[in-house]
Amino acid sequence: PPVIETSDISKVYRMGTEEIHALRSVTIRIQRGEYVAFMGPSGSGKSTLMNIVGCLDTPTTGQYVLNGKDVSRMTDNQLADVRNREIGFVFQTFNLLPRATALDNVALPLIYAGYSKSEREARAMESLRSVGLETRAKHRPNELSGGQRQRVAIARALVNNPSIILADEPTGNLDTKTSHEIMDLFEALYVKGNTIIMVTHEEDIARYSHRIVRLRDGLIESDLPNHDVATHQ
Ligand code: ADP
Ligand code: ADP
Repeated sequence: PPVIETSDISKVYRMGTEEIHALRSVTIRIQRGEYVAFMGPSGSGKSTLMNIVGCLDTPTTGQYVLNGKDVSRMTDNQLADVRNREIGFVFQTFNLLPRATALDNVALPLIYAGYSKSEREARAMESLRSVGLETRAKHRPNELSGGQRQRVAIARALVNNPSIILADEPTGNLDTKTSHEIMDLFEALYVKGNTIIMVTHEEDIARYSHRIVRLRDGLIESDLPNHDVATHQ
């Protein structure tokens, strides 16, 4: 069964008397282990789709099934629970706690999961090791480079062993060389079997994914395998 299955989802924002149709009828199925890029011009609905897929928001109409669970009509509290269990988020701006060490940032999602402090630290260290940052565990974000901060954020996204990693413009604040290093890390996570969905407007970055979904005006304009990377598989 697919990890993600949306059926004819729409999203309508009401602003006074105006209705904005951010998503019109989006049907998409993503299998475990896929690496997908969502692309499209500004305003095409990428963030809206990402927010729904990430259980931050629900569709106005249509159904969204995540890992066999219909999440499309869940309450905010139920969504928060699903989100904590199933989804690892990576953001353009890293979203790390500035006063907390790398280790404590990575361990944060485990607090909700109810692990003991020693277990949280052991798991967080393991996750930092998987992104090559075990020697930076005691550093705070302002003592790390942009690429290292994003690695900490990726370690935090992985620490709960989520069903999917959702990355929203993960290289948007990084220079070109560092962006490609982060994409090499995503490739390694893909090879290990992680399911990755990333939003990007950069063709150079989307090229690393194995499937490219292009949105326009709230509709899927195209959904194609990325033959550029097919040779690495
Ligand atoms: P993208 O991420 O591709 O730039 P968005 O999903 O952010 O696109 O936006 C799609 C459309 O929905 C745009 O017209 C945007 O202005 C509108 N929109 C997005 N979020 C909201 C919101 N919270 N309230 C009203 N309109 C919104
Ligand atoms: P991104 O850079 O990821 O495309 P946006 O700048 O489109 O993000 O949107 C940032 C946030 O503002 C999102 O949470 C989106 O839902 C909200 N938003 C976008 N457009 C509007 C709008 N027209 N009115 C209100 N909120 C909006």
